[in-house]
Amino acid sequence: MRPAQIEALSAAAINILGTSHRQAPVKNLVGAVRSGLCDLFGLPDGWEIVLGNGGSTVFWDIATFGLIREHSAHAVFGEFSSKFAEAAAAAPHLGTPTVVRTDPGDHPTLSAIDGADIYALTHNETSTGVMMPLTRPSGAASDSLVVVDATSAAGGLLWNPAEVDVYYFAPQKSFASDGGLWLAACSPAALERIRSISATKRWVPASLDLNIALDNSVLNQTYNTPALATLVMLNDQLQWMLSNGGLAWANQRSVQSSQALYNWASQRDWASPFVADPAKRSEVVGTIDLTGVDANDVCTALRANGIVDTDSYRKLGRNQLRVGMFPAVDPADVIALTECIDFVAAALQD
Ligand SMILES: *Cc1c(COP(=O)(O)O)cnc(C)c1O
Repeated sequence: MRPAQIEALSAAAINILGTSHRQAPVKNLVGAVRSGLCDLFGLPDGWEIVLGNGGSTVFWDIATFGLIREHSAHAVFGEFSSKFAEAAAAAPHLGTPTVVRTDPGDHPTLSAIDGADIYALTHNETSTGVMMPLTRPSGAASDSLVVVDATSAAGGLLWNPAEVDVYYFAPQKSFASDGGLWLAACSPAALERIRSISATKRWVPASLDLNIALDNSVLNQTYNTPALATLVMLNDQLQWMLSNGGLAWANQRSVQSSQALYNWASQRDWASPFVADPAKRSEVVGTIDLTGVDANDVCTALRANGIVDTDSYRKLGRNQLRVGMFPAVDPADVIALTECIDFVAAALQD
């Protein structure tokens, strides 16, 4: 997190933190976040930013109630992309989802599936460091929706709104804020879907009701009290990105970091990028396999020296380092990290 985000929090202690979310100061903050996201993503007219409490995990449940009409199709290529498919499979009011899988380190490409009313993609699979291009499956029914988990991608990777209907995320990754909120950029077709499912009177718990969230969001409110500190830090990060040149600029920061990381690994005989296809290597979360050096020992030595969270995704079970390269991270810090890893690896191999 950038120190300026924490300074923004300190400044907000005077008139935002601890005040009513039904009054102008908080509504203006929610409005600034909503319009800032529209600017950052270059959203066409008619799109809305919808938000509420609970983070991306809660949004999966919300989507099973308020976005999937009957049948969802999922591209599954890691831990996070599998979770939405599991939520849809467990929902008694939905049909069995279609799941298209690849092994970790790759991503599937969805083609049109008969009867699918939602295509669920994941822009960046945080567990494996694979990013996927966002494109509408060719031949998909014209009233089907492309729904994208962009939790670690949003704010760091580029995308084209013409290919997407719902782009949802939580602000603790590329936006360098805290967790606990979900935000979803929704196309006019997605808004129509939300309204039409709501009109069917399907039972939905109010706290998971996307239509209620939409009604509140367009008034710059949330259904219940939002995490105000999270919004303050998110807004500061958004304004930072916008004032420096927007999403293209933020993406370039991550591109610089990731090129440094992957080039470094490619030049070591004991390290290599996990993702074989360079085009699929994430610009925001890098995964590096090690051979002959224990990644856990490297992480332990780094952590003992204040360099934290280089661990691989545990369930992947690989001898691997995983590096966050979100826009808030200075590319020079990623280069410094590679030098630290060189030092630690040399000491461990002695
Ligand atoms: C972190 C992450 C999530 C989970 O986000 P929460 O806000 O903790 O629920 C979901 N999907 C992806 C791709 C993630 O990186």
